[in-house]
Amino acid sequence: MEREASRPACEICDLSIAQLHRGIRKRQISSVEIAEAYLRRIRSRDPKVQAFISRSAETLLEEARALDQSLASGKRAVGLLTGIPLAVKDNIVTRGMRTTCGSRILEHYVPPYEATSVARLRADGGLILGKTNLDEFAMGSTTENSGFFPTRNPWDLNRVPGGSSGGSAAAVAALEAPGALGSDTGGSIRQPAAFCGVVGLKPTYGRVSRYGLVAFASSLDQIGPLARTARDAAMILQVVSGYDPMDSTSARRPVDDYVAGLEGDIRGLRIGLPAEWFSSGLDPRIEAAVRAAAAKLAAAGCEVVEVDLPHTEFAIATYYIIALAEASSNLARYDGMRYGHRSRRAGSLEETYRNSRNEGFGDEVKRRIMIGTYVLSAGYYDAYYLKASKVRTLIKEDYFRAFERADVLMGPTAPSLPFRRGDKTSDPLEMYLSDVYTVTANLAGIPGLATTCAYTPEGVPIGLQLLGPHFGEGRLLRVAHVLERELGLVRPSLALGA
Ligand code: GLN
Repeated sequence: MEREASRPACEICDLSIAQLHRGIRKRQISSVEIAEAYLRRIRSRDPKVQAFISRSAETLLEEARALDQSLASGKRAVGLLTGIPLAVKDNIVTRGMRTTCGSRILEHYVPPYEATSVARLRADGGLILGKTNLDEFAMGSTTENSGFFPTRNPWDLNRVPGGSSGGSAAAVAALEAPGALGSDTGGSIRQPAAFCGVVGLKPTYGRVSRYGLVAFASSLDQIGPLARTARDAAMILQVVSGYDPMDSTSARRPVDDYVAGLEGDIRGLRIGLPAEWFSSGLDPRIEAAVRAAAAKLAAAGCEVVEVDLPHTEFAIATYYIIALAEASSNLARYDGMRYGHRSRRAGSLEETYRNSRNEGFGDEVKRRIMIGTYVLSAGYYDAYYLKASKVRTLIKEDYFRAFERADVLMGPTAPSLPFRRGDKTSDPLEMYLSDVYTVTANLAGIPGLATTCAYTPEGVPIGLQLLGPHFGEGRLLRVAHVLERELGLVRPSLALGA
């Protein structure tokens, strides 16, 4: 048994970011108390969940102490995240703090610079609790492809937490962190959020700066929040969003007030259910839960309509050509020369490249680099990459048409409940197919939010997904906020004990 501090960890770790923020503002709780509670919680639970790759207990406490002092002296105003320790996916660079991307090739990489999203958290008074596990270079859907160890689903340790932001989602679900940052290239925030029963939001492409997000597929990657409630997700998004001159694809558009927007009315809002998403292959328990949530929204005054996304059948092929083409080019930089792993068995320059990459990358990353190189190669470029780029436009147009008939689309996040560990590892194609509902939002650049709409009798969460037009994240958060109230879900107890 660990000694309990004056305020028990369970009590502090049960509070939402909004509640912690109120406590900090009213000086009822200190940053140090919060940080200590979470460090204790991580020590007791993370040996089972294994959400974190690295932590920075010393630095965190030092920073929390300094923060408390400046708050006490009235030198600093209380921002939305002041004193809140957050988990950060380990493909988002943190200055002076190891950033591995879940890969052996970057195992010892300590970045000399800070991602803009992290810099914004820090500027607001947020603290970094640690770096979370992921599928190597964010390639995967289970966090089993991590180069270090797999993360487990805190609701059922025999299931995967989803991926690739599985560490961030599991940490939030296990109450080892009040909130987290993840990245989403084809569902990597939303699918683990659904599998772990938390809220995850992939913002519009360009809303959050990608500076310092280690690139997987640059035209699809976005950073976004994972949290326990829509309000908490809104608070994190509020702080990390906005134009950044360091990212040429960052949007110049002002940031909406997501937190104030939560209270807006949803009556009359048209909720579109994509017909193609409720077809064969969807677990009937998920379909029932999503339809029940739609009925709650209808009862709350929304109008539920059916929409079509006719190019859904091309989603997986299009995504896996474009994402892998971009990945093969982005990952060319890991050659053992400038940073990252360098093979000891190297003689010539070419051998250095080959051996360093061969030793540093895992099988899935190698598979993707090879596919990506193939679809870009002379003679195949037109047949694969160019064609996929054209279908991408068709998918985008499907959404434009759907948003003429509906304000928000709603459907499943994934076709199945969290997989059992090891279930999909032998068949990469089967794993890819499970991304069918998430990848198109990235191809179209639109925002998507995953939240929990039910639990199975065994206490496994069931997620749903909301999609909005470009820069419609405020609307998604508002609907998710109303759903939390209307569904009134009671969180079952975790399969973890204290
Ligand atoms: N599961 C998808 C993939 O493996 C999505 C990954 C992501 O969003 N980073 O590519």
